[in-house]
Amino acid sequence: MTTFSGKGVYGAVALGKVSVFKRRETAVKMLHVDDTEAEKARLAAAKEAATAQLQEIYDKALKEVGEANAQIFEIHMMMIDDDDYNESIESIIDTQSVNAEYAVSLTADNFAEMFASMDDAYMQARSADVKDISNRIIACLSDENTQTAGSDEKVIICADDLAPSETVLLDKDKVLAFVTAHGSSNSHTAILARNMNIPAIIGAGKEFLAAVKDGMFAAVDGYTGEIFLEPDDETRARLEQKQKADEEKKRLLQELKGKENVTLDGTKIKIFANIGGVDHIGAVLANDAGGIGLFRSEFLYLESSDYPTEEQQFTAYKKVLESMAGKKVIIRTLDIGADKQVDYFNLAKEDNPALGFRAIRICLTRPEIFRTQLRALYRASAFGELGIMFPMITSVSELEQIKAIVNEVKGELTAEGIAFSDKVELGIMIETPAAAIISDRLAPLVDFFSVGTNDLTQYTLACDRQNAAVEQFVDTHHEAILRLIEMSAKNAHAHGAWIGICGELAADTTLTETFLRMGIDELSVSPTFVLKVRDAVRRTDLSK
Ligand code: PEP
Ligand code: MG
Repeated sequence: MTTFSGKGVYGAVALGKVSVFKRRETAVKMLHVDDTEAEKARLAAAKEAATAQLQEIYDKALKEVGEANAQIFEIHMMMIDDDDYNESIESIIDTQSVNAEYAVSLTADNFAEMFASMDDAYMQARSADVKDISNRIIACLSDENTQTAGSDEKVIICADDLAPSETVLLDKDKVLAFVTAHGSSNSHTAILARNMNIPAIIGAGKEFLAAVKDGMFAAVDGYTGEIFLEPDDETRARLEQKQKADEEKKRLLQELKGKENVTLDGTKIKIFANIGGVDHIGAVLANDAGGIGLFRSEFLYLESSDYPTEEQQFTAYKKVLESMAGKKVIIRTLDIGADKQVDYFNLAKEDNPALGFRAIRICLTRPEIFRTQLRALYRASAFGELGIMFPMITSVSELEQIKAIVNEVKGELTAEGIAFSDKVELGIMIETPAAAIISDRLAPLVDFFSVGTNDLTQYTLACDRQNAAVEQFVDTHHEAILRLIEMSAKNAHAHGAWIGICGELAADTTLTETFLRMGIDELSVSPTFVLKVRDAVRRTDLSK
């Protein structure tokens, strides 16, 4: 048995086989081959495997996100069969006597360039698709999978680090736990692990990465941050016991379903859930959340190989609203940039991405992207109780620009005779110290505030949330952060707005009483924490 330790970001226990996450090699080498026929046979097998993968992804997407969003994978399957594309690859293999990986990569570059130079926007967008399918074929040629495809067994995913886009693409039904060598506990990957209700440990170190091998048996303790490779009988029995105790605790919490979020002295609060995709709605309903307090809409962009269209977004938002059957759903507009990078946005590399071109800054600079999202949101608003919130606000002027665009979009829809709700609430995230400090000026312009404590903490304490080295300096209960939240709450209420908290701190039950005393109206947490927070609220007595 070898023991490693990192930081547990979701308290739960898992035991099972390890699958080491392999990242696709982006650099393809040119190799000379003597037998070009054998190389073409390898290519044919890889194309067949890639098509089978796409069919599986298409079926899954169809079930989870609907036909409009799944369609792209059908297009990818058609592209793999395209005659021009295939003739180009085969002719490179034949004429240059090179390996299939190189021929695919060269064809991808040529085709992508050709698509990108076309006038038609639809054809331009195919540039990213041809790269995507080519990468898939190359991965199949190298016999690499980015996840646990091929086996139905649930596994513990071990990796150096995982980007949010890689995490969303993992088959969640097959993941028992995450362990990464690097990463920090407030990163989006950690947040996703919490959303998925599975134990997760980050920062297990490079020695761990060197020791862990595919197929090993491991036990993961998300409470203590320990990972045991090939655990001995005693450790295995101890963790199995802990897992059983967890299940019992969960069962007890289930009894709180249907109960009110009310303190012993009668103060009520709303407890909503945070989601990152349409497929998380099941967990929201299963955990009896009162609504959705944060839908991180950027995950629609991360999951896609091109800008999601108005129709695709509309379908996703409508599905969330309809599934929540009249309960409030707050959708946050695009928050891309910093750690959430999407290739097709073509964002420049930045020295300080957290302080860079992200979120609302992109939306205000590239309003066509923003307008598409707002049109989809307003169209969907006819199907439920929608709130829209805007991330990374620092000034009154940003909010004024946003509201002007919102009004234009609404005017357009009215002129086109498209129905939308006139009760959509507009709010902003309070996640920069600037927004909290001028919250008295911002509050009159909105219906609600939602405090993003993850970013508010990084900007207030000047600690990059992605940087594990500064994690020891992050005091999540720092007085400066609590004062900024309290100040925002006072200012919201003074101007008739309500205030919620949707950062990870909302689930910290050692602060539940503090938040209640500040008059926070709503706490929005990962679905799996809803009942735990309800339990904390019901044990609180504010009369003392
Ligand atoms: C936050 O910053 O607290 C927040 C909820 O937004 P995100 O974690 O998506 O940046
Ligand atoms: Mg944030």
